[in-house]
Amino acid sequence: MSTSEMLNELLSNYLKTTAAKAAAIVDKDGLIIASQVDPEIDELSIGGVTGAIEKLYDRIKTEFKLGSRFGTTTIDQEVGKLIFVNAGPGAILTTVASSTSETDCILPYSYIVAEKIVQILEKRKKIDVSMPKITEEPMKFSFKVVILGDGGVGKTSLLMRFVEKSFAEDYKSTIGTNIMRVDYKLMDKITVAFSLWDLAGQQYFSKVRQMYLSGCQAALFVYDVTRPDTLFNLKNWQNELQTVAGPGVKSLMVGNKTDLIEERKVSLEDGKKIADELGFSYLETSAKTGDNVNRSFGSLAFLLVKDKMFQQSNF
Ligand code: GDP
Ligand code: MG
Repeated sequence: MSTSEMLNELLSNYLKTTAAKAAAIVDKDGLIIASQVDPEIDELSIGGVTGAIEKLYDRIKTEFKLGSRFGTTTIDQEVGKLIFVNAGPGAILTTVASSTSETDCILPYSYIVAEKIVQILEKRKKIDVSMPKITEEPMKFSFKVVILGDGGVGKTSLLMRFVEKSFAEDYKSTIGTNIMRVDYKLMDKITVAFSLWDLAGQQYFSKVRQMYLSGCQAALFVYDVTRPDTLFNLKNWQNELQTVAGPGVKSLMVGNKTDLIEERKVSLEDGKKIADELGFSYLETSAKTGDNVNRSFGSLAFLLVKDKMFQQSNF
């Protein structure tokens, strides 16, 4: 099979497995190198999809330059919701979903497809273009997640928004460590039981921090987009986490308070740049509006279980 045939077959398998309506792979010059439309959807044509993508050409190119390896962005367009996932340095996967569809159910597959695109473009031997099957058996996993970042960046607010779906303007920081438990459903069959550790008041005592960090499987690194110092401090949080918990902790970095547009001091580009340097995936949130909050925890859940949720071992 030629590279282009493999890419097209990969996209076709991707559409069969998910609720996505269409998908295209765009190379670093903005050229569409493969595209597929779900044959069961008649209101969409390849022309319509590629037209929509071409209109977004400049934006896609900007995303490229920012280039965190598997960074994602979602844009709402007339044809539907467009989901972009970087597929290594050479390509970007664009997925068209209906505006109402749950991106959380599509994204795990988007990452798999992106990974396979990288392999195909690097011309590695024996690439399997089929989609792995999600396990049939219901599964439940429990994880300890710590939330890290300077005081006032919105850690407690993000947790409250995620767990209680609420936001308090004058949230009083709690004393000591607060542990919240919440079950998160990932793609129907998989339950991720989070225990979310929120460190307040006592974060200045290194003994307390050690207890807090030890044995965690994932970490959410939070900074405040209106306070650049909180961004630069994430490096210290990362060092401390590595010292206590070792490597292998799944991490996601979040720039919070995006609703404060006027006061914003750190751009999306700068946030992504630091995230790349630290080796984190990156998202931006507002605990106030709820924007991207569920998606952040959903991404963490996916990072934690992706090796376990698929039956095939080739991912
Ligand atoms: P923590 O110290 O990191 O736990 O931060 P908090 O959650 O206590 O939040 C600190 C302050 O920032 C509080 O006054 C929150 O109401 C406010 N805050 C948190 N997240 C947001 C946000 O997304 N947007 C805005 N405008 N304010 C926020
Ligand atoms: Mg707090």
